[in-house]
Amino acid sequence: MSVLKAIDELIEIPIAEGEIGFIFMGFSALAMKTKSHCLVVDPADFLKGKSLAGRRINAILITHEHFDHLDVPTIAEIHRDTDAWVVCNPGSRSSLEGVISGEKLRTLKGGESIEIDGLEVTGLEANHPADEPLMFLVKSGDIRIFHGSDSSYTPAIENRYADVAFVPVGTPSPTASVDDALNMVKATQCKRVVPIHCTEDEASEFKRRVRSELPEVTVLLPKPMKVHKL
Ligand SMILES: [Zn+2]
Repeated sequence: MSVLKAIDELIEIPIAEGEIGFIFMGFSALAMKTKSHCLVVDPADFLKGKSLAGRRINAILITHEHFDHLDVPTIAEIHRDTDAWVVCNPGSRSSLEGVISGEKLRTLKGGESIEIDGLEVTGLEANHPADEPLMFLVKSGDIRIFHGSDSSYTPAIENRYADVAFVPVGTPSPTASVDDALNMVKATQCKRVVPIHCTEDEASEFKRRVRSELPEVTVLLPKPMKVHKL
């Protein structure tokens, strides 16, 4: 399915309070829909040249400035078409300044939070070789969503409860691993988990480990460019 068709399908499907609909695009790239909000995280260049005009996207979140997370022309296009807010880590800011209109570009450091259209976004300090990279914890209505970028586990995640977690499992990140992803799941006490930023083999290994160590947790292996609901 083309990514634009998938996004239109995502926008159409009904999502109840406490549920999430999402599309996994590759690396850490996700489009998400809750009952109240639509957001895009780390889209890299997966949405390049796709006109999203007329679609409601509240915010685009960028964890850090590496190519597999941030592609500036893609962000410029999505922002132009949807007027979405852009929330980024300090290392991404300089390349987005002047591209995203002033007040719609917001920078977060680890531990800081902002509210956008009723969506609460908290930056968590990541461990990854970038300029102040982030993970995100997002609260939309009653649902809390964790996005681990391609970080290893860090103490910033302790006591950060999440209902749904997108956890980075490995390739091509030097910091993400199956063990780190398991620790993220344990720290967030999350029961609905999606492995991202990994090979299929790594995702399967992660699912096997969760099944044996955290049997109460559901793992969904996402198919790229398909709409999933959790
Ligand atoms: Zn990455």
